Amino acid sequence: MQHISNRVQSLAQSATLAMSQKSAELKAQGYDMINLSVGEPDFDTPAHIKAAACRAIDENYSRYTPVPGYMSLRQAIAKKLKDENGVDFAPEQIIVSGGAKQSLCNIILATINPGDEVVIPVPAWVSYVEMVKLAEGKSVLVPASIEQDFKVTPDQLRAAITDRTRMVLICSPSNPTGSVYTRDELQALVDVLKDYPQVLVLSDEIYEHINFTGSFTSLASFPEIADRVAVVNGVSKAYAMTGWRIGFCAAPLWLAKACSKLQSQYTSGSSSIAQKAAEAAYLGPQECVEEMRQAFERRRDLIVSLAKQVPGWKVNNPQGAFYLFPEVSSYFGKTLGGKEIRDAGDLCMYLLEEAHVATVAGDAFCMPGYIRLSYAASDDTIRQAMARITEALSK
Ligand code: PMP
Ligand code: GLU
Repeated sequence: MQHISNRVQSLAQSATLAMSQKSAELKAQGYDMINLSVGEPDFDTPAHIKAAACRAIDENYSRYTPVPGYMSLRQAIAKKLKDENGVDFAPEQIIVSGGAKQSLCNIILATINPGDEVVIPVPAWVSYVEMVKLAEGKSVLVPASIEQDFKVTPDQLRAAITDRTRMVLICSPSNPTGSVYTRDELQALVDVLKDYPQVLVLSDEIYEHINFTGSFTSLASFPEIADRVAVVNGVSKAYAMTGWRIGFCAAPLWLAKACSKLQSQYTSGSSSIAQKAAEAAYLGPQECVEEMRQAFERRRDLIVSLAKQVPGWKVNNPQGAFYLFPEVSSYFGKTLGGKEIRDAGDLCMYLLEEAHVATVAGDAFCMPGYIRLSYAASDDTIRQAMARITEALSK
C-alpha cells in the first residue's frame, strides 16, 4: 500500500541536494567528479567551535533543550544582532531551529493561509517556493535577469503587491546569484514596503558575512518597517557549520511565539551540542569568518575571470555568497558531443556526464536559461572544473 498526501506529492525534490546526491553516486562508481552543485563552505568548522561542542558533550548537555533554544544562545544572538547589525531584538524574539531552512519554513507556515500571496524576487533559492506550497500559499514571482544584476526594482515590487500579499521575501546576498542590494537599493524597496503595513518582510540574511561590498545592511535596521521584519540567519555559511543544523529567526514577539509553538509539535528544540557550538561561534573570535570571506572573494575573482572566457556565457560580477549564475541559453538548440541541448537541465546533465562537473539548472531557481555554479571549492578545483566545462562545451 502506498499513500502519499497531496501536500507532499505536490512538492519538488530539492534540486540542489538532488544534484549533489547524483554527483556523490557517480563518485562512488569511480568517476572523478567535481561537485559545484550544493552550496556549502568547503572549510572545516573552526577549532574553537568544535572544542565547545566537545565540552558540551563532556558537560552532559544531553537532555531536551528548551523549544526556542537555550537562553544563553538566544542572548548571544541578540548581542550579535545588536553589535553587527545595529538592530534590537530581545532574546524572547529569537527562536533557534534546525538550520535557517527550518526557521524560514516556520515563519511561512506560521503566517501564510491558503491563497495568501508571497512575493519572491527570482531567481530565488530552491526551497522558498516549495515552502509556500507547503503552506498552500501562492508565490508571486518577480523576475530580475542578469541585465538588472538580478535585483528587482521598486516599481517591480510595487506592481507585485496586491490586497492578498502577506509576505515579501528578500535574500541578500542572494542564492543563487550572489547579488547584494546596496543600502540605497534596500531603502528604495523599503520606501515601497512602508506603504503596505499588512505585509511581513522576511529577510534571509544567511550569506551576510560572505559579502565583498564591504558593508551589509539588515532589513530590520530600517525603522519604517522594523516592527514587521523577520530576519533569518544562522551559523551554516558564516562559520562553515552546515552539518550542525543551527539557524534562527528574529521576529516580532507574536511571530516568534508562533514559530516556537509550531516547532514544539514537530521537532522540539534543536540539538543541545550544536547549540553550544553555535554559542561559541557567536561569542568567540571572529577572525575565522573574515579569513573564509577573503578566500571566497579570491575564488569569486578566479571563477568570474574563467567564466568570462567561456564562449556564449553571460556572467555578472557577484558581490556576495559563493555562487555564479551564468546565462547559458546560447547553447540551447545545439548538439554537444552528440546530445541535443534543449534547456538548462540538459546542459547540466551534459556537463555532469561529459565534464563530470555537477551544477544546478536555473529552472530550479525559477529562472530558466541559466545554471548555478557554487565556487565554495579550492582554487585548483575551480580551475579544473572550468577547464573541463570549457572543453565539454567546445564539442
Ligand atoms: N537560505 C538560503 C538562501 C540558503 O542558501 C540556505 C542554504 N541551504 C539556507 C537558507 C538554509 O541554510 P541552513 O543550512 O542554515 O538550513
Ligand atoms: N543552500 C545550499 C544550496 O543552495 C544548500 C542546499 C539546500 O539546502 O538547498 O545549495
